[in-house]
Amino acid sequence: MSRPADRLRVAMQKSGRLSDPARNLLKQAGFQFRSSDKDQLFCYGDGCAVDLVLVRDDDIPQLIAENVCDLGIVGRNVLQEKALELRGTAHAGLQELMPLAFGGCRLSLAVPNGLDWRGPSDLDGRRIATSYPELLGEYLQQQGIGAEIVALKGSVEIAIKLGKADAICDLVSSGATLVANGLKETEILLQSEAVLACQNTPFGDGRDALLADFLARIDGVMKVQASKLILCQTGKRELDAVLRLLPDAVAPVISPVWGDDEALNVQALCTSAVTWQRLEAMKSAGARGLMVLPVEKLLA
Ligand code: ATP
Ligand code: ZN
Repeated sequence: MSRPADRLRVAMQKSGRLSDPARNLLKQAGFQFRSSDKDQLFCYGDGCAVDLVLVRDDDIPQLIAENVCDLGIVGRNVLQEKALELRGTAHAGLQELMPLAFGGCRLSLAVPNGLDWRGPSDLDGRRIATSYPELLGEYLQQQGIGAEIVALKGSVEIAIKLGKADAICDLVSSGATLVANGLKETEILLQSEAVLACQNTPFGDGRDALLADFLARIDGVMKVQASKLILCQTGKRELDAVLRLLPDAVAPVISPVWGDDEALNVQALCTSAVTWQRLEAMKSAGARGLMVLPVEKLLA
């Protein structure tokens, strides 16, 4: 199916864990939409050349692979599973363009608490239930483990209780669901988060320029989200020690303090997490009056 060359069509989850953060990301990047039908499955870009298609997350990679959509916001777990499934077919060639820093989780193996776990080879000859048969199959092959994969669409965590499997391979975030089902996480197969996905070949038409603009805006939002402005004072002798705790600061501004020859003002834009531990370390190194401010817009 051919796609109009003057608009980008982005697929995202209609409702679920990724839908609100994906909507917010697009909103922060300045894209606005209006629904075109009563089911609200298609949203036209309002004053922008980007349209939205709202679907189940599992359908997103296939829609991209078949050129129905140009881009998608989807979990790396879903994207990689589909990419493996489509390997060697006419629709191969899905790729991850950019991680989006939300929807974080991991695809992990878990076994009953009571099982004495020595390593992945314990799974030899066992049955493993999963909704990710391709990713699990690849892992088992790499590890040289001969286990049977029991492919299930959902409710993987109860497969053991139902006698359908000896272990599971499922998505984990806090681990609370595993604990509630008497399971323990043993191996991580994949660290996942929401990503921007597309095909690995250029469109060869006007969409390439639209994609470049789209990526630049999303990248700008991601940088702002990660950025914090740190303000503090310190003594001249402590300045080096304080700056060593700001390795990600882009050209920090150091200025004198009125009426105090020994003190300096420090202003630093940091591009990675500013944790309490980091602030406490700065205080111990001689920083005073520490203040961390969010950044609203950045134009380099
Ligand atoms: P849909 O109706 O669209 O098929 P779903 O039930 O398959 O929805 P969600 O549960 O909303 O999907 O999860 C969507 C994505 O969120 C997952 O594919 C994964 O990338 C991410 N995610 C983050 N944390 C978790 C978690 N604890 N469990 C499952 N998915 C998670
Ligand atoms: Zn799904």
